Amino acid sequence: MNIKVAVVEGDGIGREVIPEAVKIIKILEPDFELVPVEIGCGKWERTGTAISKEDLDLMHECTCTLFGAVTTPPDPNYKSVLLRIRKEFDLYANIRPYKYYQIKSSPYQPAKPFEFVIVRENTEGLYSGIEKITKDEATTTRLLTRKGCERITEIACKIASQKNTGITISHKANVLKSDVFFRNIAAQTIVKHNIAYNEVYIDAMAYHLVLHPQNYHVIVTTNLFGDILSDLAAALIGGLGLCPSASISEGYALFEPIHGSAPDIAGCNIANPIAAILSTKMMCEWLGKHESAAIIQQAVEYAILHQIVTPDLGGVYTTTQVTEAIIKYIKTVHFVCRE
Ligand code: ATP
Repeated sequence: MNIKVAVVEGDGIGREVIPEAVKIIKILEPDFELVPVEIGCGKWERTGTAISKEDLDLMHECTCTLFGAVTTPPDPNYKSVLLRIRKEFDLYANIRPYKYYQIKSSPYQPAKPFEFVIVRENTEGLYSGIEKITKDEATTTRLLTRKGCERITEIACKIASQKNTGITISHKANVLKSDVFFRNIAAQTIVKHNIAYNEVYIDAMAYHLVLHPQNYHVIVTTNLFGDILSDLAAALIGGLGLCPSASISEGYALFEPIHGSAPDIAGCNIANPIAAILSTKMMCEWLGKHESAAIIQQAVEYAILHQIVTPDLGGVYTTTQVTEAIIKYIKTVHFVCRE
């Protein structure tokens, strides 16, 4: 099958880290057809539209999308571009893996290695978009559906089965009726797969994840809770610059670093490209290119181990220099092995 990847650099550091990730795809998977799609605030400034129907059509023509970051245009009537894409492709499962790396400069380094995945529902909950604001009141409806709870838990079950681990359901069912609903459906779904599970209230989850990250493997949770827990987990492993993600639906997927456009460092060539590069690793896995995925992981670990990292990780290297080191590793070690 001819694999076509839509490449959206977006705004800010998206324009710096995605080209670096693309260099690596071109080396490892030269047959992928890469289709550039311009989306974001830069486009809005130029044309008055941040994302058009033609952009979405182009993305639909591709097998999946590699995405940088977009800044939402500074117009109160403009809805989040990313929320629009999630809705368009029904990208209901946001998968965020967190792996321990030895970061010498990290202010907080857990004592023991750990690896866990946050599986966050991506289309419902407090991001339902059902909102009302009047002079004296504001409401946002936290909509959870049976279908939404079942399918996100099915994804968590798939990941737990592959990793041969249990699942933690994280919720606030002691307070929220909607989370009683989520918890019950998640538990019933997991039991059907014969997978072990436990439950942790979301507030306690934040606490325990910092203290004992080794105790968690696959965490399934609702939209906003997953969003917040993800940033906490990012700090735990050394920063946003290390965290990739996949947003998937039936038959389509979008891969992106979890960080935003970081306007504070955009244009300085110091953005950490690793989150974007590891997002291409997730893309290779999803496309069944497991050898390339494993090589990307090894190359990233090599760069981190040798402190060839950007300032956010205490290093002195630029975005392009980190990628050069990763590419050098791939070319020497990997191609020697393949010959
Ligand atoms: P946006 O409005 O697009 O979400 P933001 O700056 O509010 O942008 P992030 O882009 O997630 O949010 O950035 C949060 C902080 O983390 C910023 O100080 C930024 O410089 C830093 N940061 C994020 N990504 C990286 C990266 N890849 N490398 C280095 N620092 C990063």
